[in-house]
Amino acid sequence: MLIETQGSGEVAGGAAPVRSQIGGGRLQNNPEPLKRWLAGQVPGPLTIEVAPVNGCNHGCLHCYPLQLDLFGARKKFLPTEHFRPFLADFRAMGGEEVYFAGTGEPLLHPDLADLIAHGHALGLRMAFSSNGVLLTPANAARILPHTAWARFSVNGGDAATYAHVHACHERDFSRLIHNLENALTLRRQEGWPVQLALQCVVWEANWRSIPDLVALHERLGTDKVVLRNRFDREGTKHPVHPEAIPLLEAAARVPGIEVRWESFLRADETLQADWRRCHGPHFRTHMDYQGNLFACCRHFYKESAFGNINDRRFPEIWRSVERHRLFAEIARGDDIPLCCHLCPTAFDNVVIEQALTARGLGLDFQPTIIEKTAE
Ligand code: SF4
Ligand code: SF4
Repeated sequence: MLIETQGSGEVAGGAAPVRSQIGGGRLQNNPEPLKRWLAGQVPGPLTIEVAPVNGCNHGCLHCYPLQLDLFGARKKFLPTEHFRPFLADFRAMGGEEVYFAGTGEPLLHPDLADLIAHGHALGLRMAFSSNGVLLTPANAARILPHTAWARFSVNGGDAATYAHVHACHERDFSRLIHNLENALTLRRQEGWPVQLALQCVVWEANWRSIPDLVALHERLGTDKVVLRNRFDREGTKHPVHPEAIPLLEAAARVPGIEVRWESFLRADETLQADWRRCHGPHFRTHMDYQGNLFACCRHFYKESAFGNINDRRFPEIWRSVERHRLFAEIARGDDIPLCCHLCPTAFDNVVIEQALTARGLGLDFQPTIIEKTAE
């Protein structure tokens, strides 16, 4: 059954916003769907994070899916035959960005290159996270021309640390570096606009190798490095060694390196959200490797799925009573104390909170446009 809507929110004909203003599909950089939503319409989500694979070729000690025992004995893959039409539906409803990540290594999916090329041809920004070991020269040549940005997990600045944290052979560190060198060379030669970033989850197993990771970034010329803390199984921040702080501070002074200080535990810190109501899932949604659509990280605590692309097409799911009921329940904000520390829409929720406050005061809300590089 479908909810009656005041407007479809579709962008038939493709009135896409300016590319450089979108980055990451965040509302702040693309306020039109928010304005339509505030006017009572039902715009489709701007961005979706998709898990194309359940399983990984590595076994990082801090890996959240591994901590939660989400990987089964056999790797499982998102069904391509239903995901291809989903991409067209998502785009037709105003979707801007598809980010492959989730529970495992996206490059293990046998059709990932084709799906990225297909999404790109539809006008979507395609992005992915990976450990990079499978981004061979042949894969890079098929994938990177159609990719807006990619982020590679490098949880150690030297081979021994990397192999320990990733629970893999040291030769994978050399493979990753070779693949990154090749990708950066190809990008330069071919003029592809893809942005290539590194990410390291910093904790006691690897903080001593931060200077080596900084040196690697400088030598390779990657666009960005994100250094952030790990979250424990319970969703709490992990304490970091005091001697790691000066290394992080030194890293933060290097161009292109971003330390996510807010992810590191401070003394006397209590986790508190900057938003009281939760409407972020209207604009950023998620899909698991089985094609289940779910709202957000709330699903670690309670049900958050609202449909499956193997059963119904996306427009029907998005406009369904079930989806509206779930989002109305989430909007009340009762879950915020449980899940705000993991919240994928935290930034959007703050923007929406400001917009709702401005509307309540009869003011026109205009978020500041931010230029973004790789997430
Ligand atoms: S590479 Fe990513 S998905 Fe794979 S084990 Fe490491 S953290 Fe988990
Ligand atoms: S606050 Fe919780 S319920 Fe709301 S989007 Fe974030 S994770 Fe989901």
